Amino acid sequence: MLLSSRVKDVAESITFKLNERAINLNESGQHVYNLTAGQLPFKPHPAFIESINSELNFLKSYQYSPILGFKELREKFIRYFERQRNLDLGKIQGLDFDCIISNGAKHSMYNTIGSLVDPGDEVIILSPFWIAYPEIVKLWGGVPLIVPSRPFDAFIPPIEEIKRVLTKRTKAIIINCPNNPSGICYPKKWMEDFAKLVSDYPDLFIISDEIYYELYYFDPKPVFFYQINPELLKRTIIVDGISKAFASTGLRIGFAFGNKEFINAQGKIQSQTTSGPNSLIQRALMNFDFNKIEEFLVPIRSHLRKNANTMREVFKAKNLSHCWYQTNAAFYFLIDFKQTSVFLRFSKGEDAKNEESEKDYSALICEDLLEKTGVAIVPGSDFGVKNSGRLSLVLEEGAFTEAVTRVCTYLSNH
Ligand code: PLP
Repeated sequence: MLLSSRVKDVAESITFKLNERAINLNESGQHVYNLTAGQLPFKPHPAFIESINSELNFLKSYQYSPILGFKELREKFIRYFERQRNLDLGKIQGLDFDCIISNGAKHSMYNTIGSLVDPGDEVIILSPFWIAYPEIVKLWGGVPLIVPSRPFDAFIPPIEEIKRVLTKRTKAIIINCPNNPSGICYPKKWMEDFAKLVSDYPDLFIISDEIYYELYYFDPKPVFFYQINPELLKRTIIVDGISKAFASTGLRIGFAFGNKEFINAQGKIQSQTTSGPNSLIQRALMNFDFNKIEEFLVPIRSHLRKNANTMREVFKAKNLSHCWYQTNAAFYFLIDFKQTSVFLRFSKGEDAKNEESEKDYSALICEDLLEKTGVAIVPGSDFGVKNSGRLSLVLEEGAFTEAVTRVCTYLSNH
């Protein structure tokens, strides 16, 4: 079959293969501890569910929404963003801040990149990164440039490295803070340096994926470059959504903020692809008090904090403290297999000369881990870090402790 080269060039995630294996094991009667989840195992706030219920009987809930989403909701998202980030958008001269609502943050990212990137344009992506970024860039004909980070720096990409690859030709840079898969926030100092750096490149767009913004469980809460230099908002697109903080991955609502011309450009793509997003959920969101999210997140943050602390203790008990780093947000942790004895079994001691020639055993190690311990985690190579694995912190406390103990025992006993 002659499929388009566009599709042929898009990588398939090895995560899916592993998930399939975990499901098969479960079906064959083996209990599997699933640490692959990218979503909270909780229902949304009861008042939000109530709001969905109360919209069910209106004709408008079943009819087309405007392409950019309902204006009332777009404005509500803007006010919420302004409040949460402590900004005064009206004071930024030349900024005509707007919002477009889409079918999830992934869709917002797809629209954002499509509206900015021409074939051949370079887009910088900081590693570790969320799987979809390089593939979306490639789908639109762009060229992803990956800036690596090191586990010893808690996966914070050095500003110097960004400087090294940044040229006048670079069209955009994607940053994701709090980060999936590392679970860290880039520190304030990093954001200050980043703001300084991008100020020198006036044609560069910054795409800031803030889907985990509310999900910090240790202070300080995330700070962004545009809070330090609000002028940068004129060429920043912020991608966000209700999937994580509202515990609503299946409802498929995401949004993007930015200057009106960029938002309208995204509207053009949206109008000829998906049309406006789900009317019922938008109407329910219009009637839901977003202030309730703060109270909703209190027990969730506490749950994540407990599991993060458990992880530190188990790593320590299993002599793996050297691979531990302090996470503070989102709900993930990235284990560097290279610092564990299991890696030697797979690599047989061979040493790569550089990162490019380094062989990746992430999928093999994760498969072996699943077979031997019944714990499913995600290969980190999908997130740009060879020989690593991502585990999710959302599992119920008892099961999480057991699963992490099994993972650490496996990693240190080979
Ligand atoms: N951005 C990041 C960093 C994510 O981890 C995810 C989902 O896992 C998304 C965006 C996509 O969110 P949505 O479910 O709203 O498409």
